[in-house]
Amino acid sequence: MKQLIDRIAIKHEANKEDLVSLLNCKDKDINDYLYKVADKVRHDFVGDEVHLRGLIEFSNICKNNCLYCGIRLDNKKAERYRYSVEDILRAAKQAKDLEYKTIVLQSGEDAWFTLDKMKEIIRGIKDMDMALTLSIGEKSYDEYKAYRDFGADRYLLRIETTDKDLYHRLDPNMTWDNRKRCLDDLKLLGYEVGSGTMVGLPDQSIESIADDILFFKNMDIDMCGIGPFIPHPDTPLRDAIGKQFDLSLKVMALTRLVLSDINIPATTAMEALNPNGRIIALQAGANVVMPNVSDMNTRKLYQLYPGKVGINEQAENSRKIVVEKILSIGRSIGTTKGKSLHKKD
Ligand code: SAM
Repeated sequence: MKQLIDRIAIKHEANKEDLVSLLNCKDKDINDYLYKVADKVRHDFVGDEVHLRGLIEFSNICKNNCLYCGIRLDNKKAERYRYSVEDILRAAKQAKDLEYKTIVLQSGEDAWFTLDKMKEIIRGIKDMDMALTLSIGEKSYDEYKAYRDFGADRYLLRIETTDKDLYHRLDPNMTWDNRKRCLDDLKLLGYEVGSGTMVGLPDQSIESIADDILFFKNMDIDMCGIGPFIPHPDTPLRDAIGKQFDLSLKVMALTRLVLSDINIPATTAMEALNPNGRIIALQAGANVVMPNVSDMNTRKLYQLYPGKVGINEQAENSRKIVVEKILSIGRSIGTTKGKSLHKKD
């Protein structure tokens, strides 16, 4: 098994059988070795800097009904909110003052944000000389093109799972092919493209998780966010098991082996399951952290899953806490916009 890990780390190639056997492996010594090798690949290919992204969750209004998600349309218990254009620009300015060099704008699929409003937001943030990542869901080619023309640099859209049947059961009224079409369009338009999956979904097989990793490789993505699925009490999946921290960590580490120079965030969902989750992830292949810079009053309302961390921290404290932890493991804070080294211009 260790030889297999070494081979994948050197060649950056794996077949499905290799991945399934490593994902199924319960031997702690082997799994720790995998994390150690993923950490070395991260060090060799993207260095010791951890890039911080200021995350603004600007609307929890969503037209979709994903069975796993706390802000799904049919969750009548979710208290809804939406930032104005000015609110978003104010939060971005605050992040700039805290020395963030990249903003990530995330929301439900909220049609209130028309192209005109997005233009104002994107241009406003670009005028502050920051890199901008959007994570606002499925749009048409023309919309993605317009955002790009306004100045957006990066886009995050998780494929969620490559098991199409599972996707269609979990995301009613959405199609896997359209989600994939979105990723293809984003690549075509020259975005730095991020995708990713949830790990531990009900009926998600180990074989399909191996396919997820091969999908990231074949799509040649620039960033990859992998996080555990955490059941939300006000969704149809409330009784699902989920919370697969170790398996999520393994998927992340294996993704680092096959895509050595991409950006991989230590996801907040990992920290929701383990108070040290992001630091553990940073030592198993991750090189990005996305502290929350949203307004304190709305932070707790953007609840995709229970146990979200940092809902009561001021933006400056979120940053301070994370910075201290990063420095304590001998890593440094990125001083640039932290473009994915994988993306060739
Ligand atoms: N609407 C945008 C989209 O579809 O990409 C961005 C917002 S969406 C809520 C962000 C991500 O949250 C999803 O891609 C999904 O992977 C994750 N998510 C939603 N519910 C979750 C849960 N219960 N546990 C873990 N992650 C979850």
